[in-house]
Amino acid sequence: MENLIVQKYGGTSVANAERIMHVAKTVSDTYKKGKRVVVVVSAQGHTTDRLVEKARGISSDSNRRELDMLLVTGEQQSAALMAMALQSLGHDAVSLNAAQVGIEATSVHGNAQIKRIRTARLTEELEKGRIVVVAGFQGINRFGDMTTLGRGASDTTAVALAAVLEAELCEIYTDVDGIYTVDPRIVPTAKKLDVISYDDMLELASSGAGVLHNRAVEMAKRYRVNLVLRSSMSEIPGTLIKEATEVERLAVSGIAIDRNVARISVTGLEDKPGVAYSIFDPLAKGKLNVDVILLSVGEGEKRDYCFTVHKQEMGLACEILEQNKEKIGYDTLITDENLAKLTIVGAGMANNAGVASTMFEALYECGVNIETICTSEIKITVLIDQRHITKAAKAVHDKFEPMFSKDYTQTEDA
Ligand code: ADP
Ligand code: ASP
Ligand code: MG
Repeated sequence: MENLIVQKYGGTSVANAERIMHVAKTVSDTYKKGKRVVVVVSAQGHTTDRLVEKARGISSDSNRRELDMLLVTGEQQSAALMAMALQSLGHDAVSLNAAQVGIEATSVHGNAQIKRIRTARLTEELEKGRIVVVAGFQGINRFGDMTTLGRGASDTTAVALAAVLEAELCEIYTDVDGIYTVDPRIVPTAKKLDVISYDDMLELASSGAGVLHNRAVEMAKRYRVNLVLRSSMSEIPGTLIKEATEVERLAVSGIAIDRNVARISVTGLEDKPGVAYSIFDPLAKGKLNVDVILLSVGEGEKRDYCFTVHKQEMGLACEILEQNKEKIGYDTLITDENLAKLTIVGAGMANNAGVASTMFEALYECGVNIETICTSEIKITVLIDQRHITKAAKAVHDKFEPMFSKDYTQTEDA
């Protein structure tokens, strides 16, 4: 649709009445410039966390359907409040939830994926000249039930809407003024990036940089959505996320920190074909995402497998493995929740020998022990003691500081 902009506002940006009014003015300014606007909102402040806590107050293992019924209310509150704020500024605005829009998603409660978005209602409202406010983070499954799309997934709602409506731009407004080389709240010397490729951003997001939801980046890449991340509190231009060919290649584009990891070690396995399959197949069927996998020599002829999962999914992963204990044939399950993951990302890394050793040197110099290493062409991940993550992130960032500049890439290429 011509002249359409999708703007998404995160929890901090809509945390209270004052912030909502501030956002409404930004939306209003965009509309007055002759744009059609779809606004996607997250739940206010820490509402989603509070709702999760409320559910835990009732039961430690809430039914996932009911948990989703509860969580979606956060975004719906924000959407209604935002529509009211826009109306108070004299605009014709309407709020819609996922059922009203027709955001169809898979059935996995808590981590559903968008399958299809119906556009009829949206275009109808937009053609009436209305500003449409959509509740982020939610979908409806084939049973007509509400599902949620994973923590932080309002970004994905916004990008998906921008894709189906063929918006000219999708702006993600948040509480930082762009994407930095590392989380600026943890490493204050982080550098803001003017532009980053979809691929590098996807690796950062998938490695734990919470600034953008990974599926939002994936979708933006697939549908070539013009994506910008910027601050809702200032006018400063943000960071553009683009196709790699249009972005100057840096050896290292960023560092991601993930504290939400848990490691599971499956010990005493036989050394024969099919063992890995017997472990990971039931986990995959349980829709569990498994990360860093390590196979090591255990005692005698035995093998140990270690892998990481999201902390919230550790219980479920252990449950699945215990149910399949006989088939897999392991001795023990050992879990560790005191780890954190530090990842350096950069498409230019493949041609830069020494990136890994530079990272290890930085960790050595600040006395941080590496528990596990995992590398690919575009990233290097280490697992370390969670208590040292800030120190380690600072040290690694300092070490790579020169590589974060364009000048470095140019001299290297010359
Ligand atoms: P929102 O509620 O608007 O979706 P989030 O909390 O999800 O906001 O994301 C913004 C936060 O992401 C920032 O406050 C920052 O602490 C964190 N962050 C992590 N990695 C980065 C990074 N590389 N660049 C900028 N912010 C980052
Ligand atoms: N409110 C949801 C969350 O806290 C979704 C989002 O903010 O994007 O995860
Ligand atoms: Mg977010």
